[in-house]
Amino acid sequence: MKAVQIIEPGRIEVGERPDPKPGPGEVLVAVAACGVCGTDLHIADGHFAPTPYPIIPGHEFAGTVVGLGSDVDTGLAEGVRVAVDPSLFCGHCAACRRGRGNLCANWGATGDTVDGAFAELVAVPARQAYALPDGVSFEQAALVEPVSCAVHGLRRLGTEAGESALVVGVGTMGLLLTQLLERSGVRVTAVDRVPDKLRLAAEMGAEHTAASIADLDGRQYDAVVDVTGVAPVIEQALDSVARGGRFLVFGVAPEEARVALSPFRVYNDEITVVGSMAVLHSFGAALELVSDGTVDTTGLVTHRFALEQYADALGVVRGGTGVKVQVLPSFSSTSPTTPSSTEV
Ligand SMILES: [Zn+2]
Ligand SMILES: [Zn+2]
Repeated sequence: MKAVQIIEPGRIEVGERPDPKPGPGEVLVAVAACGVCGTDLHIADGHFAPTPYPIIPGHEFAGTVVGLGSDVDTGLAEGVRVAVDPSLFCGHCAACRRGRGNLCANWGATGDTVDGAFAELVAVPARQAYALPDGVSFEQAALVEPVSCAVHGLRRLGTEAGESALVVGVGTMGLLLTQLLERSGVRVTAVDRVPDKLRLAAEMGAEHTAASIADLDGRQYDAVVDVTGVAPVIEQALDSVARGGRFLVFGVAPEEARVALSPFRVYNDEITVVGSMAVLHSFGAALELVSDGTVDTTGLVTHRFALEQYADALGVVRGGTGVKVQVLPSFSSTSPTTPSSTEV
């Protein structure tokens, strides 16, 4: 099969690799679409600690079951279209036994710690594969993983109808969080430097938009979500939390980053700071939100690339101007990358 491989940090190769063989309880999936996210940049650069090298990255994906290992008891058969929850939790550590598998002591994920889906084929545990309703395209289905991260984030944030929220950074994740907040009766203000993203945020439910937190004239919000992971932005965003409010650290900051925070304010204003890591019991809910149209995926995929163009795809994500970038193994590298050029 053809696949992208990160040989070592900074070294990407696209070429022929042996077809993966589905082990016991696994299915083989022919990948139709796989999204690129910030984690893929960290993996390519060697900044994602759990990743061993060489690795085939790719954890936001959908495709068709084309093979079954032994002991697959989930009812999946060849030809079934699926989206795949990439989470690989051990099931027996203390976190897993408390039902918090995303904090698993032996945490893993397809495409992050074992070979993933920037490839023609990928082997995954059958229990992680969700059959797609007919109306859901592969392109939409490859967005279910980011939606499921947003669903988990919203559960952690615990907003209530009628509250106000500030979402800082409206790339794919910020736009999905904006939608989920708005759909649950929260009035959303979105901040981003890129005007096109603010336009999408307004279309997707943001009541107000602004180019920076400074433009908000000191307004404060019941819930503030940082999706940038940028320390100085997080400090400004913390100042935007209203008394009694909550702050969600959603964007991934560098491990060594630190922010200044007023313990007096946290005490005196009863401010809650929470984190949200990946997916937890939220993939099925996310698939339903996408398939019934509650989450609008129109306009989210702005760039499409062939496997051979993986370095270009990473470049677009690094540049931050597009929204979701996807790699389509069947995409011809001579095709234009305009949104209207492919039916997936
Ligand atoms: Zn991701
Ligand atoms: Zn575990």
